[in-house]
Amino acid sequence: MKYIVVTGGVMSGLGKGITIASIGRNLKNKGYKVTSIKIDPYINIDAGTMSPYQHGEVFVLKDGGEVDLDLGNYERFLDTELTRDHNLTTGKVYQEVIAKERRGDYLGKTVQIIPHITNEIKNKIRKVAARSGADICLVEIGGTVGDIESMPFLEAVRQMHREEPPENIVFIHVTLVMEDLQGEQKTKPSQHSVKELRALGLSPDVIVTRSRTPLQESAKEKIALFCDVSQELVISAHDADDIYEVPLEIEKQGLTTKLMQRLQLNSEVEDEGWKNMVVRMKEVKEEVDLAIVGKYTNLEDSYLSILEAVKHGGIENACRVNINMIEAEVLENDPAGVDKLLLQYDGVLIPGGFGGRGTEGKMLAIKCARENNLPFLGICLGMQLAVIEFARDVVKLDGANSTEFDEDTPYPVIDILPEQSGVADMGGTMRLGDYEAILKEGSIAADIYGTSYIVERHRHRYEVNPEFVDRLESFGMVFSGKNKNRMEIAEIPDKRFFFASQFHPEFRSRPGRPSPPFKGLVKAMCKYRKEKERQ
Ligand code: GLN
Repeated sequence: MKYIVVTGGVMSGLGKGITIASIGRNLKNKGYKVTSIKIDPYINIDAGTMSPYQHGEVFVLKDGGEVDLDLGNYERFLDTELTRDHNLTTGKVYQEVIAKERRGDYLGKTVQIIPHITNEIKNKIRKVAARSGADICLVEIGGTVGDIESMPFLEAVRQMHREEPPENIVFIHVTLVMEDLQGEQKTKPSQHSVKELRALGLSPDVIVTRSRTPLQESAKEKIALFCDVSQELVISAHDADDIYEVPLEIEKQGLTTKLMQRLQLNSEVEDEGWKNMVVRMKEVKEEVDLAIVGKYTNLEDSYLSILEAVKHGGIENACRVNINMIEAEVLENDPAGVDKLLLQYDGVLIPGGFGGRGTEGKMLAIKCARENNLPFLGICLGMQLAVIEFARDVVKLDGANSTEFDEDTPYPVIDILPEQSGVADMGGTMRLGDYEAILKEGSIAADIYGTSYIVERHRHRYEVNPEFVDRLESFGMVFSGKNKNRMEIAEIPDKRFFFASQFHPEFRSRPGRPSPPFKGLVKAMCKYRKEKERQ
């Protein structure tokens, strides 16, 4: 197994994940199987209990793992499917070590950070890497060098460096190069972060700098000199127009070949799929405007996978989708203005969410989309609200609601999953990960998926109450995707595109292989836009 271990300097939020995923993508283009492990040094066992305001969206894996959004980037860039073990947290490591201690596995020894915690970290990294069947494993250590929380992880990879043959492990340090008030690139913070790394016994083989503009030659020279790496191993990962262009930018600087030499790899393969996808991405023939009505709208990362999936749908339709985030409460505060606001757009998307805040506003948006025949995509909570809105306004079930928001509703059209009733634990207890759905022949669902059997990822505690299904269907809503008694998809067939799913199709969407509901939405939006223009 070859390991590429990545640390971060100066500050977090540099786009380290994208940079590493891009390096991984380039190695994949050479024919290698690449996997990744993301280390989050926080104490939480996983990201499942975290608000999207904390670290952005919670990404859901096929096995139901609720993980950091960087794993989403890895899945999209490496076109792979990861499992929960690929996200390592301090919480997970300590949980395991404490369980072993209680079982008496340490045979009376004092249990300490070194060696017990560090051994556990190394074991986990090696086990996950081996199980993945990959040739190369990227190990990204979250946070910034110098954080107390990341110390045991840095110590563990330092030990790995001693234990592995030198051609099996390389260290990359991703750091920030800022500009001073005159626009000159300053390398001092990067120098300091490498110094800090060295104090911990780690020396980077490659330094990747994040900067707004390409790294200037003088800055490159300085970093090489002060950080003791050769100039050709200082790589500029400056801002790109689109994150999918980062692999191409990095490739131009020859990093892949240098890494392969260092790791003693010598593939001659050159897969051009990614490059071609980027070319297609730039061939924009049309433009549409999409309104996303949500409640975590001031932090773009909260809906990261949705934004990416919309982009994937756009690439496939040679269309640029401009996204406008609208705070649901804005609609609630001005119900009379909803139509005027939303009819400027070519489509409406309601993403997933938890808790009652903003739900009435989202339903105003759904009502507007339904009544005005705007292309509509509802995801998870978005589907539940589409069902509630339909129950209230079309079936005339006054006061219909989800028991999540109103326990005493006379018409609980959305209710808690039977197996969830009474579950008090918040972590990892929802209906999570891959489940199948059977699609109804002749439906929009069967049409966009081009098959009658699908598997998609889930993350919910509530669902459509089967007792109301017949009544809703007799008024024109069709549940076109089912998992036995569970409603997975709701659609209204006589609309341009009115489609909602209990699952989260965004998690399986890939550049070059868009998720069908997103592709379908963008296609319907393009068609609608043209119809409007012709009028
Ligand atoms: N809050 C809803 C539920 O738990 C929807 C969840 C979601 O949108 N991810 O079922």
